[in-house]
Amino acid sequence: MKFNVSFERVDWINTIFLLMISLIAVIAAPIYIVMNGLNGLQIGLFTFYALATGISITLGYHRLFSHLSFKAKWPVKLFTLVFGACAFENSALNWCSDHRRHHKHTDHDDDPYDISKGFFWAHMGWILFKMNPKPPMDNVADLRKDQMVMWQYRWDKAIAVLVGLVLPAVIGYFHSGAMGALGGFLIVGVLRVFVVQQCTFFINSLCHTIGAQPYSTRCSARDSAIMALLTFGEGYHNYHHEFQHDYRNGVKPWNFDPTKWSIWVLSKLGLVSDLRRVAEHKILLAQMDEARRKADAMREEIVAHEDPALRERASAILDGLTKQLSENYHEVEQAVANKVELSKKALRNWSSETRIMVNQLGKMSRLIPNN
Ligand SMILES: [Zn+2]
Ligand SMILES: [Zn+2]
Repeated sequence: MKFNVSFERVDWINTIFLLMISLIAVIAAPIYIVMNGLNGLQIGLFTFYALATGISITLGYHRLFSHLSFKAKWPVKLFTLVFGACAFENSALNWCSDHRRHHKHTDHDDDPYDISKGFFWAHMGWILFKMNPKPPMDNVADLRKDQMVMWQYRWDKAIAVLVGLVLPAVIGYFHSGAMGALGGFLIVGVLRVFVVQQCTFFINSLCHTIGAQPYSTRCSARDSAIMALLTFGEGYHNYHHEFQHDYRNGVKPWNFDPTKWSIWVLSKLGLVSDLRRVAEHKILLAQMDEARRKADAMREEIVAHEDPALRERASAILDGLTKQLSENYHEVEQAVANKVELSKKALRNWSSETRIMVNQLGKMSRLIPNN
């Protein structure tokens, strides 16, 4: 780890809790499964709790409360606040405060899960140490006015223990006695908490390390379709950092983003409203801008290259790409300034042209050997 933290700053409560959760999940839960197997109720409850707590974090804590990317009626808020607590990721108020600081100070000291302090720090190390000085929660004034958020803030731990751990054990007890209670606690309670937590943690670690950056290289956030599979669509993190108020993280129709689909379905049922979407031309301009930045970076590499023939050939290709990118960019910009309605087809064409050019740049960087 590149970041040195003193022993006095260890948050013992968090450390012991995470250690216990991890040990029970990777040792006790598998032993229980080998000795007793799993019954239908346990599989069903595990699935329900994993989906309910996972989506409460992504749809509730993240897109609703942190980014206000849509408005929700009380049943949606209540569900996500109760099951969000059961993920044992702190209260919504604390979670949102940390997350808003992450967006405001990405990759810098005031980012709680700053990836520049190392993969483990961003993943879960930051939870094991107290911040010094403790950051003021001065970025959630809007949420403090929400009575339901404040109710959950006061009762977060009690809800987490009672609904997240005790309730599955009680259901298990009524189904199959003491061993059923133990199974409910180990499998539906602890193992599920471990799985959901690790998936959330990977957003802060892996999604700032591995993946593509089609919208911006100004910060470390990356798009990863694999991570999207594990995190209800949160893996499109490069897009999310560029357009944090969009209710969609996987903005393309083919992106796997069940949170986006759930929000859309809830809006059709009248349970949520005011879904915020970034205009397509803005997304396209961001992609074009980023492609130009990549072309500029490549030009610097080429200029410094020692082989004059290669320098000349690559520069000519690059000139053509940059010229085309600039022309396209100005055409879109002009159309927007003149309030010309851009057809979906035209936007799609520009978008695929930009993608092809970015691919060409990628191929060039692989072909050009380093000095
Ligand atoms: Zn991030
Ligand atoms: Zn976010």
